[in-house]
Amino acid sequence: MGLQWTPAVLYRERRGRVQCVLCPFRCSLKAEQTGLCGVRRRAGDRLETATFASSVRHWDTVERKPLYHFRPGTPCLTLAAPGCTFACDYCINHRMSQYGREGSVAWDAEPVDPESVVGEAAGRSGCVAISYTEPSLALELTVALAESGRARGVDVVWKSNGFLTPEAVELAARHVAAVNVDLKTLDEHDHRELTGARPGPVLEALTGLRERGVWVEVSTPLIPGLTSGEETLRPIARALAALDPAVPWHLVRATPAYRRTGHAPTSVAAMEAGVRTGREEGLRHVYVERALGAEGRATRCSTCRTTVVERDVWALGRTLLDRGRCRRCGTQMEGRW
Ligand code: SF4
Repeated sequence: MGLQWTPAVLYRERRGRVQCVLCPFRCSLKAEQTGLCGVRRRAGDRLETATFASSVRHWDTVERKPLYHFRPGTPCLTLAAPGCTFACDYCINHRMSQYGREGSVAWDAEPVDPESVVGEAAGRSGCVAISYTEPSLALELTVALAESGRARGVDVVWKSNGFLTPEAVELAARHVAAVNVDLKTLDEHDHRELTGARPGPVLEALTGLRERGVWVEVSTPLIPGLTSGEETLRPIARALAALDPAVPWHLVRATPAYRRTGHAPTSVAAMEAGVRTGREEGLRHVYVERALGAEGRATRCSTCRTTVVERDVWALGRTLLDRGRCRRCGTQMEGRW
């Protein structure tokens, strides 16, 4: 089955137009006009979305999002609704995310039956993840999955760019259990160059989600020559530490992709320097996948520094926590265990 438009939420009438208030672009739409994201459009006096659909339906782990302090080892039935509010030139998922923004990207998704997805996830005591593309654009699907999953213990988690309005944060926080938010840089110019949008709303959204009880972890891609240096990483680490030194910060090694292919993968030295910067700014949990081996993925007790969770590549190794407490010194570790 091909593309289907279904009723959307988060819009209002404004001076004869229909304004979408899902992301900070706040598109003001004329009759039958589609928003900048390409997957939400005006139909009469209402808004519609093409995102009650998914390009994938497969199992991976919660560590793959990455979420390291949220139900470690939980299997995730992962969906991806086409579309994104950003147009990052290094996006490895651009064949799904740039539908509606790039003419060469064809629609490739099937409508989702939330009951069936939740039933499958419940069968493995898992959660449902929306990932690879921008999950906030699939807020209606998120709500349907969360409402169906509530009685069956199935959480919905996101991997998001965090480009949400306060209205979207308010709604999402009632339905999403955990989010990994990409915070690429706080530099206005660099963020616009990378994504086409401002960074301010991302920091505001991740703060708002945390305040409303959503478990939030943060990822930063270290793109050589752009976001891998101290001038990018220190302000981010400082901002996160001011929010809460316990926010887990994932440093992501960048590999050449899409339109940004003229560089080597991020060096190991740059990843190590990023970890040092995070720790110097007071962050307790700084992680590196695919560069520093098991040490980069291990969780240490914030008090006695004993290793309390060991991880394999994108998977749980073993946890030495006792209901979230360090067995050696009894410190309660930050997270949902
Ligand atoms: S979600 Fe899409 S339609 Fe809505 S404001 Fe953002 S870009 Fe515009």
